[in-house]
Amino acid sequence: MNAPASKPHGTAPESALAEVDRSGGLRVESLHAAYGRLEVLHGVSLTVAPGEIVAAVGANGAGKSTLLRTVSGLLRATSGTVTLGGTDVTALGAERIAAQGLAHVPENRLVFPSLTVEDNLALGGWTRRRDGGYAVRRTAALELFPRLRDRIALPAGALSGGEQQMLAMARALMAEPKVIILDEPSLGLAPKVVGEIVAALAALRDDRGLAVLLVEQNVRAAFLVADRVVVMDRGRVVAHGSPAELARDDRVRRAYLGGGTASSSALLEVVDEGARPRGGTTQQEEA
Ligand code: ATP
Repeated sequence: MNAPASKPHGTAPESALAEVDRSGGLRVESLHAAYGRLEVLHGVSLTVAPGEIVAAVGANGAGKSTLLRTVSGLLRATSGTVTLGGTDVTALGAERIAAQGLAHVPENRLVFPSLTVEDNLALGGWTRRRDGGYAVRRTAALELFPRLRDRIALPAGALSGGEQQMLAMARALMAEPKVIILDEPSLGLAPKVVGEIVAALAALRDDRGLAVLLVEQNVRAAFLVADRVVVMDRGRVVAHGSPAELARDDRVRRAYLGGGTASSSALLEVVDEGARPRGGTTQQEEA
């Protein structure tokens, strides 16, 4: 486990940071954000490279959702920078950041309930409407979530919670992002469906090479799929490392990861290489 804010990127040397920029990844540097006068992010730094999943975990109110909102331009940073593939997007609005290749899947899915699955997908592809290739993107999105194919003509509001999460992710993919950031995709879902979402995230990383930033309260799910984890507390990154490093760190586990519920043996079990999902065949295809 690495020390917190003093080395915000872990041990990543400048050359590794430059590689994140060159390869199209996400880089967040000393990000501060506030609601009115209340500052809730106090200098958060992290990187996510293409083909990598980074999970931000932490208690309620740690600032995880605020981090995602600031990265996607829904909330203006008060200082610090967000770069996508080396381009500084900190001052851009959400629409222009999306056009630069970042997709934000917010908490609670927020699909359009009265519109069909098809129309929700079409809206997701709206920013790319002039580029052509709609059918290819639609096929790729539905390949990841075959369940949606059978429900394509249904209103999104008729889908289960898990299916709505899949639709929210598929809709985000219709813009063909390079970086996808997701706020608690496992929230309120049954373990089997969480497994499907986790498998889809692994596929986005391994098969499509996306940079994935995931916010999760479900520490188990986060540790199962993430390559690196940042632990947040009251607007700061207080620990970071690989899931295996953090699972072995009793201090971090007790102080920030819910102690008993995320017991060391339970977390070590999920970080076991054999248990970790890889892209390719998703669990729903196996079912
Ligand atoms: P949770 O897991 O409960 O969603 P979180 O880690 O995502 O928590 P945030 O939602 O980012 O945390 O909230 C961080 C802090 O900012 C909290 O103290 C919260 O009360 C405050 N906050 C969040 N949204 C707003 C808002 N719209 N206006 C004012 N304060 C807010």
